[in-house]
Amino acid sequence: MREILVAGNWKMNGSTAANAALISGIVSGVPEGSGFRLLVCPPLPYLAPVAEQLTGSNVALGAQNVSEHEAGAFTGETAASMLKDLGCEYVIVGHSERRAMYGETSAIVAAKFQAAQAAGLKPILCVGETLAERESGTTEKVINEQLDAVLESAGIDAFASAVIAYEPVWAIGTGMTATPEQAEDVHRHIRARLAKRNADLASRVQILYGGSMKGENAAGLLSMPDIDGGLIGGASLKASDFLAIAKAAART
Ligand code: PEP
Repeated sequence: MREILVAGNWKMNGSTAANAALISGIVSGVPEGSGFRLLVCPPLPYLAPVAEQLTGSNVALGAQNVSEHEAGAFTGETAASMLKDLGCEYVIVGHSERRAMYGETSAIVAAKFQAAQAAGLKPILCVGETLAERESGTTEKVINEQLDAVLESAGIDAFASAVIAYEPVWAIGTGMTATPEQAEDVHRHIRARLAKRNADLASRVQILYGGSMKGENAAGLLSMPDIDGGLIGGASLKASDFLAIAKAAART
């Protein structure tokens, strides 16, 4: 049985005061139940104070980005070992905003994935197609390219300590959510692609859905057999919205 992971990607939002209120709302409202886990990914400058506030809670900490390099003259970058040092357990790699706005190719994403794992972090590998790609029938081709870049460089065994997030680009921040069936089709495809290399491992990999997930649509998405949680943007910025998704996870 795969655990459900509900992960909040705060993106470039927050402040010391707003984060403290958000974390205290989340921590005090974690629903009863087992089989699910909550994770927050604040902006880099707030990782240390959020880590401190999470101490003793069962909410995990992650980062939104990491350098593919280990250390050295890379001004403005953050090494995976530093994120680990600050208490991160997870790091998002290959988010579509980074691929589209910061020129991150699948090769760079694969290098970040490996750098994260080398430091003991669990990468959350984001894959997903644009609307034009979906409409031209190339969704699976796009997903394959993004996934294979990591499979070929890191190997299938690396997915034993990684998470995948299927995030259709057209659903991110747009209010347009994939239907549970649309999402499940892609999740099933991803798992089948991993299974070609190692069926047992593929059956254990968590595959999250991301794209305008909220309290109202979470239960339907999470009820699908290959959807193991959510990567949440907008709805992770308000404790009650995030907890509504956590409650759906706790009931699943
Ligand atoms: C995201 O950025 O990963 C995301 C899914 O955002 P939103 O929930 O706002 O669509």
